[in-house]
Amino acid sequence: MMQKPLRVVIAGAGVGGLAAAHELVHRLGDRVHVRLLEAAHELRPQLGAGFSLSGGLQCLRQIPALSDELSKISSTPKLFRTVQEDGTLLASFPAKDLVGDPPALAQFMRDELQLTLAKTLPDGLVECGQRVVSVDKENRMLHTEKESDIPFDLLIGADGIKSHIRGEHFDKEWDREYSGLSMYYGVISNDEVKKHGDFRFQEGAITETVGKGNLQLSFQCGPSRDWTFAYAYRCAEPPADDEWATTDEALREKMSEITKFSSRAMHFGIYHTPPRSVSWVNDRIVLLGDAAHATTPFMGQGANQAIQDAACLGRLLSEDLTQIDAALQEFYKIREPVTSRIIKNSKFAGQLRTADSFMERTLRSIAYRIMFARDGALFKRIYQAETKPVI
Ligand SMILES: Cc1cc2nc3c(=O)[nH]c(=O)nc-3n(C[C@H](O)[C@H](O)[C@H](O)COP(=O)(O)OP(=O)(O)OC[C@H]3O[C@@H](n4cnc5c(N)ncnc54)[C@H](O)[C@@H]3O)c2cc1C
Repeated sequence: MMQKPLRVVIAGAGVGGLAAAHELVHRLGDRVHVRLLEAAHELRPQLGAGFSLSGGLQCLRQIPALSDELSKISSTPKLFRTVQEDGTLLASFPAKDLVGDPPALAQFMRDELQLTLAKTLPDGLVECGQRVVSVDKENRMLHTEKESDIPFDLLIGADGIKSHIRGEHFDKEWDREYSGLSMYYGVISNDEVKKHGDFRFQEGAITETVGKGNLQLSFQCGPSRDWTFAYAYRCAEPPADDEWATTDEALREKMSEITKFSSRAMHFGIYHTPPRSVSWVNDRIVLLGDAAHATTPFMGQGANQAIQDAACLGRLLSEDLTQIDAALQEFYKIREPVTSRIIKNSKFAGQLRTADSFMERTLRSIAYRIMFARDGALFKRIYQAETKPVI
């Protein structure tokens, strides 16, 4: 007798939820019926800025529907540079060993990646305007703002760092925590950068500018080669709301002048979810991505890890669909240690890279000198080890 397809509902069409849908459709075909419910009323372009994919990119590329599409919307760096605020060059080395061919490291605009992941899924699978508002775990039924009684055999909570599903069905104390760092993050067109010029924006390079208690990153993304900039700084209280226009002129002056020509920009506190000994699995509800393990962005690993969660879960479920509970336990066993380590290491990297006191800055100089010596040999070794997919 034909088995009924497994009814999987995914809450959240961020990179993690979309990658999970792709993995399930690709690996399980008609053995699974997937609904991806997204709270937003549409997946909008022009949202967010750029980011790097490494281990996650290697996983996504295994999905035939995606491989060519990803190449069309990504770009790769040629150089890594670290400079001081006064423009003194601390280190510079070619990126080609890390990028490889096909690229194991590439940069994407978040909106382009999200839209590409969505449009390459079967029609109708992504349902916008479907915020999950409650989940009846016992009867395996959930409700959204506009639809009641949606049945599921497996619910994947990919609803981000403020996860509703984590709050409703896991430890209430398990919540995001402010890291002590806030950030300006935005996009400047390549034309504006060419027009105004700045040592922190060098064509083809990922440039890190280290200051006293702050750090600025700039890199190009996607076919337009527009620029993403991120300025992280220490700050006891996070900004109240996402906003750009800061009245703090002293702070504004520390950033590159050309950030005032940005086409989009955000200002926010950086949060993470400190690792806790709480499983990501509760019966047939499983958390994935930022909902389970949000990290600060200082190792560029949040989306990469969400994608690896998706690949790991897809692989385990496809091996034996009669053993779902065992697969979920195994998923947590494989993915928890690596993501917990990244949260801790990224917190440390954020502190080191935004060094403030004399002692801290001395330590940062020594660490950078060691890491970037011999064309970044140690940095590359660490980077390759930290970004290798664990699925
Ligand atoms: C400044 C910055 C730079 C970063 N740089 C990098 C980088 O270089 N590399 C990297 O890998 N990562 C990076 N990250 C991290 C990365 O952006 C996140 O880790 C990643 O987007 C998490 O994906 P997700 O799918 O788990 O969650 P999200 O992207 O947050 O998606 C969650 C989705 O769930 C939806 N949702 C929420 N509640 C509900 C509900 N109740 N019902 C239905 N839907 C719901 C939301 O609307 C959203 O679409 C960076 C993050 C920041 C802030």
